[in-house]
Amino acid sequence: MSFDVDRLISSRARGIDASGIRRVFALGATMRDPINLSIGQPDFAPPEAVATRAAAAIREGHNGYTQTWGAAELRTRTAEHLKADVGWDIADTPGAPGAETELLITSGTSGGLMLAAMALLGPGDEMVIPDPYFVCYPTLAHMCDANAVLCDTYPDFRLTAERVEPLITDRTKLVLANSPSNPAGVVMTADEWADLSELCRAKGVVLLSDEIYDEFTFRDARSEPAHDPAALPGLRCPSPARRDGSNEHVLLVRGFGKTFGVTGWRLGYVAGAPALVNQMAKIQQYTFVCPPTPLQHGVIAAFDSDMSAQIDEYQSRRDTLLEVLSPVTNVAAPGGAFYAFVEIPESLGLTGTQVFEKCVERNVLLIPGGVFSPRDTHVRVSLTAANPRLREGAEILRDIFQGR
Ligand code: PMP
Repeated sequence: MSFDVDRLISSRARGIDASGIRRVFALGATMRDPINLSIGQPDFAPPEAVATRAAAAIREGHNGYTQTWGAAELRTRTAEHLKADVGWDIADTPGAPGAETELLITSGTSGGLMLAAMALLGPGDEMVIPDPYFVCYPTLAHMCDANAVLCDTYPDFRLTAERVEPLITDRTKLVLANSPSNPAGVVMTADEWADLSELCRAKGVVLLSDEIYDEFTFRDARSEPAHDPAALPGLRCPSPARRDGSNEHVLLVRGFGKTFGVTGWRLGYVAGAPALVNQMAKIQQYTFVCPPTPLQHGVIAAFDSDMSAQIDEYQSRRDTLLEVLSPVTNVAAPGGAFYAFVEIPESLGLTGTQVFEKCVERNVLLIPGGVFSPRDTHVRVSLTAANPRLREGAEILRDIFQGR
């Protein structure tokens, strides 16, 4: 009798359906030099200083575990950044007996999200997430036997307090917001954040702000002055994280991967109420243990790296996409991240999957909207091809939208 492992698989694993996105990747692997507008990571190399520092850390012997909280110097630099950026004063001494911390370095943004879900959600609990969502969000709830409650944000993809309020129940533990967003690139305004934050505070639930794309906000969508303009010239992306004494309910989750071209390094950080962050740290200690040590040393240099040229390049790609597609369909203008969520003209009567298939026939790879939502009425276009290729891909999509 052969070993029947299938019968042993948990309902947790069985309940995850990753087939939509897997199909796109599998197809992409078989296409020869496609115009690939499906990718969720930047196409630039990390800053030289970041790469040098990580490589040096290996040679200098930074290859063992760090504290679960993260390497001391990275923690210090991250705390300084949070102070200059949003005015958040991280005052803690992790590692000392009985010490509590507000800051935890995590294994990617995904690590931070996972720890937050594990620390907050139990069977039957609810987490409000935007629809459309980043693919992992519903799964976070599922893995904790909790429910993801979808907040319909079509057609403008704005997660407003007005839309969230009716969804909050006695079982709600957290509201997950993401700005700039995946899949739409939409940036919340300071007023939208203020209203959503006030709603969560009043209801006594956590506002989890996934700010993985915070630095990757285009100039024209930046509207909030940095807390310390001397340290961070110019404007930044609005965030609910300002520490004015009224937002202990905010859990900030950020990452290094997208902004600095190091998605494979798996590094991020979270900041929030010590009582919550300490629970998350406990789970990290018994699962991830600590984020990759030499790479933690590498990203210390990230805080001194100027990525504005790369971000401006992506803004110009965004402009190209809007120039080609806006005349033929609705596209909520992305203010950041690498994506646009493009509506399929209703008159065509095609689903996102059908448009995806037509694109594949013409050597263009993008992602059907149904991967990010129960609806399949859009396609996600990534801005990760350089301008001439992106224009070519966008024109093919425009032709399909025009029935050609
Ligand atoms: N949140 C969002 C909105 C994302 O788009 C991604 C990555 N695509 C993540 C989190 C996970 O990022 P990381 O690689 O840092 O785990």
